[in-house]
Amino acid sequence: MAINPISCSLDFDQDGVQHGHLKLPYSRDDSAWGAILIPITVIKNGDGPTALFTGGNHGDEYEGPVALLDMALNLEPSEISGRVILLPMMNYPAVRGGRRTSPIDGGNLNRLFPGKPDGTITQKIADYVTTTLLPLADVIADLHSGGKTLEFVPYAASHRLPQDPALEARCTAAMQAFNAPYSMIMLELDAVGMLDTEAEARGKIFVTTELGGGGSTTPQTVAVAKRGLRNILQHVGILPGKVAMKESFQLDMPDERCFVTSEHAGMLEFMVELGASVREGDIIARVYDLDRSGWRPVEYTAYRDGVVAGRHYPGLVQSGDTLAVIAVPQN
Ligand SMILES: [Zn+2]
Repeated sequence: MAINPISCSLDFDQDGVQHGHLKLPYSRDDSAWGAILIPITVIKNGDGPTALFTGGNHGDEYEGPVALLDMALNLEPSEISGRVILLPMMNYPAVRGGRRTSPIDGGNLNRLFPGKPDGTITQKIADYVTTTLLPLADVIADLHSGGKTLEFVPYAASHRLPQDPALEARCTAAMQAFNAPYSMIMLELDAVGMLDTEAEARGKIFVTTELGGGGSTTPQTVAVAKRGLRNILQHVGILPGKVAMKESFQLDMPDERCFVTSEHAGMLEFMVELGASVREGDIIARVYDLDRSGWRPVEYTAYRDGVVAGRHYPGLVQSGDTLAVIAVPQN
């Protein structure tokens, strides 16, 4: 059985605030005995539940890292009962590169769970999170955004877990407590290898988000992330008090007809705004041929009534890109 080479400079059982690193050995041309240092903060006060909050699973999504760096600086041990583990830049090489995936091995961290202790750099990070951090946690929030190629209405999400309805109810309650402007029961196109799937398989309360996108942040989306994380801590009793709930727009993604996929490459003209209500058959976007003028664009329509919860962000589109996500309102 291979041993994961990552070591942690912190003591997970010590009260107080500790800032340090996960040290992942990475021998290479420009650093023979070098390592990748992944920042980690542990805040603990006595007994109580453990929350594991992660950002930078994809390196070009910034609400999570920004909110977690802020929490690392500002959450006081005296405020809490229990433990908060913050990993703001989980796929650190990808975050450094400003990319979704790792520039070292091309690894998409959120497709490589549970990871491999003797695998690639990205697989080693996944394995450490799976085998060392997940077992410590009672609740996990992994914060995502659209990154450079997608943009979403700000939502927290939980998954349908038909094999474990009790866990689904606990995850949905935590997702509602995050209390983003939108609350989504999310369908994953490709759930194999996701941290979500791994945490849920271990019976952990798991919440994810999609908060904005386009490869940057806004004050509004960062505020949603900061507030949502504190709400989760209140929900599980790590912070005192009841969550002050605001109205949240309930959405569902029941099946694949939520996704509008481009079958053409070209230049994109969106016909509807993010967050708009659409009817089945409404034109969502036009794709213009880049090679000639005087040609009609291809028109893409909604496959169902719903709300435009996500959209392709860059002005150019490739065949196979997700153009839009149409989610179904529940209230
Ligand atoms: Zn992501």
